[in-house]
Amino acid sequence: MKITFCGAAGTTTGSQHLIEVNGSKILLDCGLYQGRRDEAATRNREFLYNPEEIDAVVLSHAHIDHSGNLPNLTRNGFKGNIYSTFASRDLCQIMLGDSARIQTQETEWLNKRRIKKGLPELEPLYSELDAENCLRHFVNIGYERSIPIGDGVTLTFIDAGHILGSAQVILDIKRGTKKDRLLFSGDVGRGSNTLLNDPVVADDVDHLIMESTYGGREHELPTQANHLLSDIINRALERKGKIIIPAFAVERTQQLIYVLHELTESGQIPDVPIFVDSPLAVNATEIFRIHPECFNEEVYDFLFTKRNPFGFENLTMVRKVSESKKLNDVNGPAIIISASGMCEAGRVLHHLRNSVEDSKNTILFVGYCAEHTLGWKLRNREKKVNILGDSFRVRANIEILDSFSGHADRSELIDYFDAMGGKKENVFLVHGEPEQSEAMAKTLSGRHQGRIEVAKWKSTVEI
Ligand SMILES: [Zn+2]
Ligand SMILES: [Zn+2]
Repeated sequence: MKITFCGAAGTTTGSQHLIEVNGSKILLDCGLYQGRRDEAATRNREFLYNPEEIDAVVLSHAHIDHSGNLPNLTRNGFKGNIYSTFASRDLCQIMLGDSARIQTQETEWLNKRRIKKGLPELEPLYSELDAENCLRHFVNIGYERSIPIGDGVTLTFIDAGHILGSAQVILDIKRGTKKDRLLFSGDVGRGSNTLLNDPVVADDVDHLIMESTYGGREHELPTQANHLLSDIINRALERKGKIIIPAFAVERTQQLIYVLHELTESGQIPDVPIFVDSPLAVNATEIFRIHPECFNEEVYDFLFTKRNPFGFENLTMVRKVSESKKLNDVNGPAIIISASGMCEAGRVLHHLRNSVEDSKNTILFVGYCAEHTLGWKLRNREKKVNILGDSFRVRANIEILDSFSGHADRSELIDYFDAMGGKKENVFLVHGEPEQSEAMAKTLSGRHQGRIEVAKWKSTVEI
């Protein structure tokens, strides 16, 4: 069996690993590489294999860094099945469409400059139609059901507790009389998630491809820090201003809605209007509602004994642009959740323009912001920021609550590894910046006898 690390090796983005066994070529994930524009364009356009020769794709979860290059794969001749959970497929429908729109807009913007310089125009990586065509390849299977996907290869998904529908991928491989089990962790959740189940513990693992995003770092807060959220909200509401929460449309927004629902119902925060202003978030919330099989027991009970966890009286879902614009006139206390989480694009920019200069208002960050993004600048309390071309003085209060991370930290990854059964003869660490993956490799080497390596991009290992 050969494994080639085609992406998310030495970095956290563009997850793709090629398994060659018994004459089949199986691709684990086909993620979009996100980084500097030129490098990303080349990496995403040039496959390290021939898409026509791939027999099947197995998708761990819907995040764009794992699914985002699938429309490009099918556009370039891939004919096989894309195996995923049901929830991953439904999330891919909205996320790949959204990704296609972003690609198209970015290309249009680049082409305007290229035309001026007399350079030939570029084509987007894929269109909305390519994303739609790609969805026709999906074959879905629930957690803990098994399905043959190649000669002597059986696939089983188990819950990864990372986002809705996220899975760890188990491949049971028969070569003659030899039976091996390969586990690909996908992205591993922290456990005790507001909405999801804990990552399921796998047995009999012989070979492991494991993520290491936080291989050398611990999160400061536990997963559920609702009392801190209610403290921040109550403090902010005393100033009678708006609370703007930039949040990722998928998962983070739904976590927030559920927690705010609970806090309102238990009287920990007062009744205030709450708006979710992002069409993608509104669509994603509808998908969450139809996948209770992914909920943890508490949310499941909430759904069946009470009512919709993602809908309540104070909550308004805003889809139309005209309604979004009306939010500018909301003066009194209100909470506005809007995308994007890093304030790079989306309607949140308009809310920030409108609120950032008033000291009554609060901007609350509940997620990671990459360096140099507007979110990162605000989180670092820069005094002046540029929003959609104009300069603004930051007078609003900046609050940060980092308890919602979707990724296991160092200790949680060690627990995940230790709990896993089997010989774990070969362990390859992926999906991490080099120092994070190296730190995890060092830690695991100190407690485990097998081969432990940080996967190198473009390298092939034979087992
Ligand atoms: Zn992920
Ligand atoms: Zn990822």
